[in-house]
Amino acid sequence: MMRKFDEKNYTWDGVDTLVYKADGSPFKDVTRQVLFDGAFDIPCQFRYFEVKPGGYSTLEYHEHTHMVMIFRGHGQCLLGDEIKNVKVGDFIEIPSHTIHQFRANKGDYVGFLCLVNKDRDKVKLLDDTQMAELMAKPHIKAFLESC
Ligand code: MN
Repeated sequence: MMRKFDEKNYTWDGVDTLVYKADGSPFKDVTRQVLFDGAFDIPCQFRYFEVKPGGYSTLEYHEHTHMVMIFRGHGQCLLGDEIKNVKVGDFIEIPSHTIHQFRANKGDYVGFLCLVNKDRDKVKLLDDTQMAELMAKPHIKAFLESC
């Protein structure tokens, strides 16, 4: 199967642009496109997420692993207690139980491809204690308040 890429709109033929998450978790200006929804021998989903300038993905953690490759623009990502600048081509492995978030806080889109197991645990949000621990670190506070 071939799905042609539209480089103006960052969409693919026949792929719907969906709401990022429908579970009510907090995020801003993020869309989801599912490019591959698993096959018998590859029980994975391959998605493209796009964060508009000023937007951010959910601040979360979970047992399952993500593999991410930045495909559009640049911004920052929180991984554990590190903030990393990200740009097209960067590859990020998000290990199990690691808090993460992507922010389009550098005046540009951040679009990324993400490979994930189809069978995976539910996303966990941070509780007040975890949030307070993060906000106690000035570099992380600055990141979380950056847009
Ligand atoms: Mn995640």
